Amino acid sequence: MLVGRPNVGKSTLFNRMTGSRRAIVAPVAGTTRDALTRPVEWGGAAFDLFDTGGLFGASEDPLHELVVQQGQRAIVGADLLVMLVDGREGLVPGDERIAKDLRQTGHPVIVAINKTDDKRAQASLTEFYELGFDPVIEISAEHGHGVAELLDEIVKRIGTRDSGFGTRQAGESRESQIPNPESREETRIAIVGRPNVGKSSLVNRLLREERVLVSEMPGTTRDAIDVPLMWHRRHFRIVDTAGMRRPGRVGGGKAGAPGGKVEFVSVALAKEAIADADVVALLIDANEGATDQDAAIGGEVDRAGRGIVIIANKWDLVKSQDQNFVKKFDDDLRFKMRFLDYAPILHISALTGERAGKVIETMDRIAVSRRTRVPTPALNKFVQEITAANPPVSSGRKHVRIMYAAQIGVAPPSFVFFTNVATTFHFSYERFLVNQLRQKFGFVGSPIRVQVRRRKK
Ligand code: GDP
Repeated sequence: MLVGRPNVGKSTLFNRMTGSRRAIVAPVAGTTRDALTRPVEWGGAAFDLFDTGGLFGASEDPLHELVVQQGQRAIVGADLLVMLVDGREGLVPGDERIAKDLRQTGHPVIVAINKTDDKRAQASLTEFYELGFDPVIEISAEHGHGVAELLDEIVKRIGTRDSGFGTRQAGESRESQIPNPESREETRIAIVGRPNVGKSSLVNRLLREERVLVSEMPGTTRDAIDVPLMWHRRHFRIVDTAGMRRPGRVGGGKAGAPGGKVEFVSVALAKEAIADADVVALLIDANEGATDQDAAIGGEVDRAGRGIVIIANKWDLVKSQDQNFVKKFDDDLRFKMRFLDYAPILHISALTGERAGKVIETMDRIAVSRRTRVPTPALNKFVQEITAANPPVSSGRKHVRIMYAAQIGVAPPSFVFFTNVATTFHFSYERFLVNQLRQKFGFVGSPIRVQVRRRKK
């Protein structure tokens, strides 16, 4: 679906992509607003292109509210959104408002900067990265430049869907896809770990915590699959609580012995829960420390880009409680899970409740930080400062310089760095940047993704 402010060139692009000439409609209320759909075929794929036409931006129109609602309903039903902006005008507040709406749908968004054939456009193109979408493509709808690349990007994204090509089959149940705005803010929690580490005990403990309200719980916790709860007026949902009980049922008594079939099952089950969560609590048994199996589950969380807190449970059974022991325990844990160096560690007892109050608090902090967007000016000030002190290592003859950076996504926080030459940073430099980002902007408990691109002339 094509979205954008009036006059950015949506009709021109629509005609170019569909090969049709759109009728010039007389400005009679109702007619111009009717959105237009046409089939497009490209690279062996077929999809329906939907032009929102005048569905946005007509703020003096008495029908504005209605029109905007229709537009919003329409974008919710789309599989992929192409946001068209005007390269000649640069980024304007209207673009940001539309971007905000699009972001709420959770659909993938491609930004197409139009009118880039115009010399005046060249100066300000990078600022469109501030919209936070990826990819950003430069086009000229009128001359056709970049339209093939845009179509390639569209096909690449919808072509991988198993539901077919884009919107064509997805027409029926659009109403049901409208996301509930409140649910967007809900933090989905998965509690994972090997059998018998205390997952069920922790859930029950959390439900007994002060200030936690269990809402709309169907029957007892035992039967619930997802448990919604509230803490400090924030919404959480513990997902897949049924899945985390399954291995216990299968294995009967002591199912935690390493290496067995149950171990395998627990990783597979954890995988499902992880895919479904925003933040994962990885429980380990404080008596045993981290096992390979724990590390395997932790690796899944990292790969999936979820937030994570590592929880050493059964801390009440740990005999020696002196500071050295804690340090040794944590060092050992960090060593076995080096790739999770960003994850906070908690030492709790689900049985006695000791420090269990920290669990939700920490998960909330992680959830909030991973949804954080760093304003582009602040990000670039930071980039200037750290690259002045520690420039990227240059391997060739040319000096590698970071020209500009932008945050292109949240959850996990994702950044793109534009350089004059390099297309990748040395592993250690990337790590350095990530650590600096964490320290400066307080990203806690979540992986950070980094891309490097060469800035086109
Ligand atoms: P799950 O398989 O991961 O859900 O583990 P459960 O919650 O069923 O707990 C397994 C066993 O460990 C039960 O006997 C619990 O009472 C016990 N347990 C859980 N948490 C703690 C804890 O913090 N301290 C102690 N001492 N025992 C615990």
